[in-house]
Amino acid sequence: MLFIDGKWEAANSGRTFASYNPATGEILGEAADAERADAARAVSAAEAAFPAWSKTTVYERSALLYEAWRLMTARRDELAQLMTAEQGKPLRMARNEVTYAADFLLWFAEEAKRSYGETIPSSRADQRFIVLRQPIGVAAAITPWNYPVSMLTRKIAPAVAAGCTIVLKPAEQTPLCAIEAFRVFEDAGFPPGVVNLVTTSDPLPVADELLGNPVVRKISFTGSTEVGKEIARRASDQLKRVSLELGGHAPFLVFADADPVHAAKGAALVKFLNTGQACICPNRIFVHRSVADPFLAELEARVAKLRPGNGATDGVTVGPLIDAAAMEKMQRQVADALAHGATVVTGGTRLSGDEFDGGYYFAPTVLSGVTADMTIYREETFGPIAPVIVFDDEEEVIAAANDTTYGLASYIYTRDVDRAFRVAEALDFGIIGINDINPTSAAVPFGGVKQSGLGREGGHEGLAEYQDTKVCGIALG
Ligand code: NAD
Repeated sequence: MLFIDGKWEAANSGRTFASYNPATGEILGEAADAERADAARAVSAAEAAFPAWSKTTVYERSALLYEAWRLMTARRDELAQLMTAEQGKPLRMARNEVTYAADFLLWFAEEAKRSYGETIPSSRADQRFIVLRQPIGVAAAITPWNYPVSMLTRKIAPAVAAGCTIVLKPAEQTPLCAIEAFRVFEDAGFPPGVVNLVTTSDPLPVADELLGNPVVRKISFTGSTEVGKEIARRASDQLKRVSLELGGHAPFLVFADADPVHAAKGAALVKFLNTGQACICPNRIFVHRSVADPFLAELEARVAKLRPGNGATDGVTVGPLIDAAAMEKMQRQVADALAHGATVVTGGTRLSGDEFDGGYYFAPTVLSGVTADMTIYREETFGPIAPVIVFDDEEEVIAAANDTTYGLASYIYTRDVDRAFRVAEALDFGIIGINDINPTSAAVPFGGVKQSGLGREGGHEGLAEYQDTKVCGIALG
């Protein structure tokens, strides 16, 4: 069902589409298959709701967000089970994602109240300047499947906190997670039209409406760089405000002074997070020659302990890939790396057998001897393959790390504080983990530089993405 103007509705066409469990290939349920006219209805509902919603106090908006946070937290286990079934991540990780998703509701419930303006001194004695922050208007959001609940709250929470109304189109692979997340907003008591959900099997007609309708003043997108660029190009026709959270190609730098065992533990955890299907997963692991052997030995040992399988099964730590295209990409990147001289330390192939035949399971893989002429060195992997590259000096590795069109996350392992600052400042990435594999939180800005995106989500920057800045110059008599 679509959620438009506070009501659950069928699509105009009456059509639905299936959502599948990637672990088994089974159909999990059906969602309404919206077309352009449905998206137009959702935009009209958001437009009608905007005047009253934008005039509510920040305290009223905050109270609703607190309630949504309370409900999402209370429903954590049910949401997590659905997420594991629809997206594939192990249940423990799915619970963590629901907590992270709820964190954005809590953070923006608080941040709504801190939407301060400014007063600015004038060069004229008779003049005063004040700066107001006001909601942009109707916002639209398009989200990916890999974090099917937190990517929604990361956009909806700041939008409604700012006083915007919003229409959200989730990924076609995970509509059921979006529906359950919207039940939270419904039950929290958001007025009709403030949050609207349009599920569809075909993003294009819905995107045509969201991008073409002049009522939509802001578009926030999380997904691939390719689609993000297309959205930016199309949004420019009406100069809509755009936020883009796109792909990454994170370098993971292990210096000679790092503890190689600790670094390998971090690499194993963050590389195989969500089966490698996270935008902040390391894509190139650069290890100093002097610590390469102990690092690789520990990484191999840790990868051997990972347990691939259906995320709903106890003890499973790596779920399936999302679809056949992802499997094809893993096989292609490994074949290309081997053809160019890389070595498989462990894994490297599709998993088969009873437990695996219903889904797309790729063995957690470590490749050594990776070089710059390999596809995996340039193309986002988005899967469970850890490519290891040996380096000799700091300047060389900084240049190599920056030698990508992406600029989202990066990681540094070193025990030298001078080096940590020097390298962090030299890396062209929006997020840097220093001896830390989780440099993210609802409280801090998340986003990339270069072709990894525009704008930031979370932190106080997240709210500003949904606000216009107005200056008033006041002449005194
Ligand atoms: P995708 O770009 O294929 O799809 C993302 C969303 O865009 C989906 O809702 C999809 O239906 C929609 N879409 C697809 N084609 C479209 C079009 N032509 N016009 C409008 N909408 C369209 O990406 P994906 O495969 O779902 O997600 C994986 C990508 O997302 C990876 O590149 C990953 O790095 C990135 N990602 C980035 C972040 C971040 O915060 N930077 C977070 C998660 C994922």
